[in-house]
Amino acid sequence: MRGGDMVANRPVRVAVLGRPGSGKGTQSGRLARVLGVPHVSTGELLRAEIERGSPVGRRAQEFVEAGQLVPDEMVLESLAERLDDADIERDGFVLDGFPRTIDQAVALDALLAPAGLDAVVELMVPEREAAERLGARLVCPECGRSVSRDQRSALCDHCGTVLARRADDDVDVIRSRFDVFENETRPLLNGSISTADSSPWTATEPFPKSRGA
Ligand code: AMP
Repeated sequence: MRGGDMVANRPVRVAVLGRPGSGKGTQSGRLARVLGVPHVSTGELLRAEIERGSPVGRRAQEFVEAGQLVPDEMVLESLAERLDDADIERDGFVLDGFPRTIDQAVALDALLAPAGLDAVVELMVPEREAAERLGARLVCPECGRSVSRDQRSALCDHCGTVLARRADDDVDVIRSRFDVFENETRPLLNGSISTADSSPWTATEPFPKSRGA
């Protein structure tokens, strides 16, 4: 058993969705540590490609900085490569920020077939609070953790790197990201993602056991 005996010793596949600023990165990281599985963030994968200056990164940069969705084939290329890794095959994952459209949900189903997702977690945070969080957010360019500007020093608590603003946390870009969430991702949350256990789960309850555990 892994993750403090919460889950059986076989892959667990969870997707975490929510509007920008709902805490997907933070909560997915925590959940991944509890479950003992890798945390896979498509936003982080894309930022790493941009940082490396790879062909995907060079094409993705303008979309990320404008708060628009990166075209599916680019995101899928990065994601499919990561999902092929041995740790993911063995342990599963907590997927943060994917799927964001119905087409992506269909593509994910195909990538994971025949197993599929075990659970989908939706983080529900009102838009106003999410906007305040994003406006005050500093992130660590090294380890990806984020903190609120009012709370901490300019250095990452975890690795000591100087914290920075994300280019897409600019107020106009935040607006576009919220619009994209409402238009593209919201329709997904009305039951179009299939999971082994479709019962709703809220953050105040313990995370449910994986299939058949
Ligand atoms: P995030 O780190 O999840 O806030 O994502 C930051 C940005 O990366 C998003 O605003 C998009 O530009 C891009 N991105 C992340 N995940 C996806 C995805 N599943 N589909 C398309 N673009 C994505």
